Amino acid sequence: MRPILRHAFAAGAAVLAGWLAPARALAAERAPDLTLTGTLTGADHETYREVPFRLPAGTVRLTVEFDHTGQAQRSVIDLGLRDPVRFRGWSGGNKARVVVEEADATPSYLPGPLPPGTWRLVLGVPNIRKTATAAYRAKIWFDRADAPFPGFLPAPIKAGPGWYRGDLHMHTAHSDGSCLSRKGSKVPCPVFKTLEAAEARGLDFIAVSDHNATSQNASLRELAPYFDDLLLIPAREVTTFKGHANVYGTTAPLDFQLGSPRAPTLSKILDEVEAAHGLISVNHPGQPSGEICMGCGWNAETDWSRIPALEAINGGALAVFGPEGPLSGIPVWEARLNAGFRITAVGGSDNHDAPAAAGKVSTLGLPATVVHAPELSQVAILTAIRQGHVFVDVWGTQDRLLEVEARAGDRRAEMGDLLPAAAGTKVRVEAHVAGAPEGAVLSLAGDGARLAVAFDPKLGAAEARRAFELTADGQAHWLRVDVRDAKGKLLILGNPIYLRPAT
Ligand SMILES: [Zn+2]
Ligand SMILES: [Zn+2]
Repeated sequence: MRPILRHAFAAGAAVLAGWLAPARALAAERAPDLTLTGTLTGADHETYREVPFRLPAGTVRLTVEFDHTGQAQRSVIDLGLRDPVRFRGWSGGNKARVVVEEADATPSYLPGPLPPGTWRLVLGVPNIRKTATAAYRAKIWFDRADAPFPGFLPAPIKAGPGWYRGDLHMHTAHSDGSCLSRKGSKVPCPVFKTLEAAEARGLDFIAVSDHNATSQNASLRELAPYFDDLLLIPAREVTTFKGHANVYGTTAPLDFQLGSPRAPTLSKILDEVEAAHGLISVNHPGQPSGEICMGCGWNAETDWSRIPALEAINGGALAVFGPEGPLSGIPVWEARLNAGFRITAVGGSDNHDAPAAAGKVSTLGLPATVVHAPELSQVAILTAIRQGHVFVDVWGTQDRLLEVEARAGDRRAEMGDLLPAAAGTKVRVEAHVAGAPEGAVLSLAGDGARLAVAFDPKLGAAEARRAFELTADGQAHWLRVDVRDAKGKLLILGNPIYLRPAT
């Protein structure tokens, strides 16, 4: 579905446990489910050997890591795969790690159902000297549907903590993203053009969120080794008649036919999202629905305690009305915060034409979602978004920064965290801002803002620290720090610190 308005206008904590605990329990990092080893000799020269193994029922992802000894003697062992029904692919000696899933697979291999039963490694031996021996080892993982998606690449894109900038919402040829062809026609835009545009915009991560599609993941799997400085988070925009929501971090099939027998209620879809370890974020909830933009507003009956994130700023509305205009998601978000929910505000460009026209800058990363994460990996970024360690750089700069720290006694919180504080406790809040223009100011929002002692909001310099104090009343509150320009225009949308009664 192509939302008309989008184009007209350019257009719970309980879930955390499963994410935080085994953050590194990724397929390629946990012990293999099976290791096959063997030794080849000169007698195997120019022969094929098929090594059978049993693939358990319920497997949705097969990962094989293959290596062998004897390279110094020019021994070569090539790899292929055969399932019980058909030949699945041949990577020869050109890939050490192979992943096969239903909807995508490492290039050289065919995606598709993974029939249980006897599979075979197909080993080809184009060369082994008469007196040589070569030992091979295949480490094999079988992931079931309840395993987290391990990411397109096995290792983090970048080690170490930092503020990582990205865009969580965009479309390609796999839904309604378009661009000009080589001859100048408007065509469905290939995924790699979006990735090139993201790199040109200096982004650290993107989520390609085509409408109700997972077919883009095959392209992303092919492109990930080349774009090895850009984290590619699998996503889709679950597009229903009652609203749109992005789901991140899973390639699993999910229902989107809300209101049909497949998914009579949103809770059925949320069950599937949670079972697949996905992170859901409600998109552009401030947009209207109806013939002007079918299904764009959020009208699904919703248990907000199951919604960890919300797109407070959508690029389409931003371009026409600004971040706090009539279609802003910020009031929708704040109403949920006032009702006591803990929901992370994110931004998304909703870009549908990644490579900008000649002489223009792509709108990818406008706005940017900036995430404080321990490393640049899928697990780290999505976990940090759940935790609310996020600000939205409204105008998609490459250098604006907002860090907020609150202390009550020996307890410390950053944006997104809970801070227990008994009545009468002094809470010190310190904001660190960088990259702000001349005349920029801090502004406070939230039902905890009235507890704050007056402070001078003027930043005074491109990089500045401002601290203020408040006195806790022992009740639950949220308190957010934003950055505005001298005229009050929103530059950075922060996420709240949540004051809670002391326990
Ligand atoms: Zn949408
Ligand atoms: Zn969209």
